[in-house]
Parts: sequence; C-alpha cells; structure tokens
Amino acid sequence: MVAKRQIYENCFDQMCFPPARHFFDAKADIESSEVFRLIKLMPKGAALHGHDTGMVGTEWLIKNATMRSDLWACTKVSTSQPTPPMELDLLKMIFAPSVPAANTCPDGAWISVATLRTTNPTEVDPWFEHFLSLVTPDPTTRYPNVNVAWEYFSKLFDVTGGLLSHTPVFRDYFTQTLRELKDDNVQYLELRGLMLPTYNLDGSTLDTMQVATLYAEANAEFSGQQVPGEWFGSRFIYAPTRNVDNATVDTYVQTAEALIRAHPNYLAGFDLVGQEDKGRPLVEFINQMFDLRAQVPDVKFFFHAGETNWQGETDLNIIDALLLNTTRIGHGFAISKHPAAKRLAAEKGVAIEVNPISNQVLKLVEDLRNHPVSTLLAEDFPVVVSCDDPSFWGAKGLSYDFYQMFMGIASKDADLRFLKQLAINSLQYSSMPADEKTCALEAWAILWDRFIASVLGNPAPTNKKNRAACVTIWNNNVKLQTNEL
Ligand SMILES: [Zn+2]
Repeated sequence: MVAKRQIYENCFDQMCFPPARHFFDAKADIESSEVFRLIKLMPKGAALHGHDTGMVGTEWLIKNATMRSDLWACTKVSTSQPTPPMELDLLKMIFAPSVPAANTCPDGAWISVATLRTTNPTEVDPWFEHFLSLVTPDPTTRYPNVNVAWEYFSKLFDVTGGLLSHTPVFRDYFTQTLRELKDDNVQYLELRGLMLPTYNLDGSTLDTMQVATLYAEANAEFSGQQVPGEWFGSRFIYAPTRNVDNATVDTYVQTAEALIRAHPNYLAGFDLVGQEDKGRPLVEFINQMFDLRAQVPDVKFFFHAGETNWQGETDLNIIDALLLNTTRIGHGFAISKHPAAKRLAAEKGVAIEVNPISNQVLKLVEDLRNHPVSTLLAEDFPVVVSCDDPSFWGAKGLSYDFYQMFMGIASKDADLRFLKQLAINSLQYSSMPADEKTCALEAWAILWDRFIASVLGNPAPTNKKNRAACVTIWNNNVKLQTNEL
C-alpha cells in the first residue's frame, strides 16, 4: 500500500498516472514500479480469458519462431516506411522448403527470412516487432477509433497465421503460453481457440480433431513436468469466429460435440469470437446453441458478450448469453447499462471476464479510471481479471492487467485483500470440477502464504502441505488427458 499510495501522490496533478495513459506509453513506468514487482510475485490463480495465438510475448516469436529455417515472408514495398527493411510491409509468412508460388503473395513478393537476416542483421528484429503487435509510439494517431483498432488487430491474425499454424511452431507456442503464465505466477489457464488446421513442411495438414489431440498432448506433457500444487493445469474453450452464416455454425456444433466427446476432460466448453459490433448477434444462432445443448446436455458456454460501447444492439448479447445459461461472460463491458442482466448474473454467479488493457487498446475506454467495472467492484459483482491477447500489446502473462485493476479500476484504498479476492475469484469461477476446485483453492492458499512470507523476508511456512487426495486428482488429470489421445 505504501508503494501504491506513492504512485497516487506523485501523479495526482500530473499526467504520469499509468492507468490514465495509453498502455504503450505507460508500460515502462508500470514495469519499473514496486507495485508491479510485487504483483508479479503474487500467485494470481487462473487466467480465464486468453486467445490461442495472442498469448506469447513478441520476444519469443522473434527470437524463436522467426529464427527457424524455411520461413518465407510475403512483403510489399511501402511508401510510408523509410529505412530497410522497414520500407517493406509484412503481409504474411509461411514455412516452405522452397520459395512459395508467386500467386500466393499477389500484392508483393516472397523473401526468405534467413536472407533478410543476413542482409539486414540489425533491422530485422525491430521490423518484426513492428508487424507482430499493435505497439506503436503514437497509438492515438494510428488508432483513432474502435473500428480502425480492430482492423489492425484483425490484420495481425493474417500476419502471424502462417507462422503460428506451422505444426511444430504451433505446439511450441502453446507450451510457451503455459510457461509464460507459470513464470508470471499464474496457476491455471482456460484458453479460447479456433482449433484451425495446422500444416507441415511437406504440405500435409492436421485437422481440427488432430489439433485438439496436439493440444491435449502438450498440455498433459507440461502439467506432468510441474510440481504438484504449483500448477493446476489448463482447459480449452472451443471458440470459432462469429462472423459466419448459420450453416457454418451448424458445422461448429458438430465439431464442438466431437471435440467434447473426444476430450471430455480437456474441453471446457464453447464460445464465439470476433468483433461483436460487426459480427452477427448471438440471438441469430440460438437454434444452433439449443442443438449443441441437446447433443451435449452438460455443455458449458463462455460467450463473449457486450464488448462494446454501444447501447441497444450489440450489448443485448449479454441478455442472450445469460438466457442461454452461460457459465461466464467474456468482457461484459456493457453489463453496467443493464440492471436486470446484472442482477441475474450476480444471482446465478456468472462472472464477467474483465480485460482492462485489451479494452483500452481496442478503444472502449481511454482512462482506465473510467472503466465501467469500477462500479461493479463497488457492488461486489462477480469479476475475474484476464489478459485477452497480451502478445498484441507487448504485454506478457497476467500481471499487467492485475496492475491496472489494482491501480486504476479499483479504489485508491483497495489493498492486498482486493488482490487476494481477485485471485480467489479466478479459481472459484473456473470450470474445474468441484473436487479439483477445492484442491486448487487449498493449494493456492499455500502459495499465497509463501508469497506473503517471502515479501516480508520470513522463512517459507512449512506447516501446510497439499493433501494426498489432491495430488492424486492432479496426477489423474494428466493421466486422463493422456488417455484421451
Ligand atoms: Zn477475447
């Protein structure tokens, strides 16, 4: 609290308060603060809202993924970027044993990334940094409104798609996702993803069911390597894009059913993703959602809903998500405008997944002190904090979003108890089965005591140990998930 209050005092009548500034501008100040250092050390429980290809720090992409052989970049000469290779726009990438056909890069030309690295040894890393995230020195000019921000955001998926959907990179990327969360003192993940096919160098591909197997396998492998009680595993929410016709959503229903049957332990449920304002409203897919529930009666929904500034249209997705018995709501940014929906969510224990930095970068709120969740916190509404796509805003793990919640969205007086409750909520509102959840909460409490002791410079408490029954559950999970392969 001393560290927190100091930032308030130093910044009270200046423009230096990090949550009031754009994250790209405030990031370095956040990182150098004592509050951030402590939040990083804190066991934060679960990340319940993150997307498959937006999770890993850009540094890994540049230093690992783009260093691999046989990578090609489709580039176009740009008029706005002055120095080489900055004068080239990066449109997309692909791994191939020889130069890909020219017609697969119709607006530009394929260049070998290895060659680019030889001719421009120092410029290539910053070049990738520029094209692999939204980070820019002047975000307000580059992203004047929500639609422009979403255009850039959506383009990132084209730029990184061919890089990340190469099977070996894809698998390593997922493992790196888990590793970075674990390193950031997060204990559990529910990842949303599209399960799109991946490709191999010889031109063969893995289909959705094989990709699911790949995930489950990498997940079990990672969990198997962790100390029991320090990592509670991860689950997957099948979340294809919402901007499609009903026939496509029919196929999603079939795929979701097949995935849940094949991986009952690993698959947590279903969601639809993409810019809500531009995509189709949930109500138009109501029959498909009923079909899915008819086929898999205990299917859980985790709908993105109300990620909008508008009122009277897109935000009504919140009502439909609740009527469909959603387990949590992704974002729910607009829920404060709907008292009945708010009451219903609170009564049913449907938490909203708040992603502060995502909301700011994608232009829903500028100064995080104005985030609508402030009011909900004051009312003790069920909330979890998450990171959405940290990779795209130059963040990593969950600590940055915890910082913004603690410093900018919660009260000046919200203290350690607030941070503790956020972590407890993340486990409480996870989709873990009841016995597993009890174990996770117990194990997390041990990590918490250890954290407090280490901050105070006391010896680690040794009087509490994980129950044998819990260790059995975690080991069984690894076994179950391995058996599903
Ligand atoms: Zn999201």
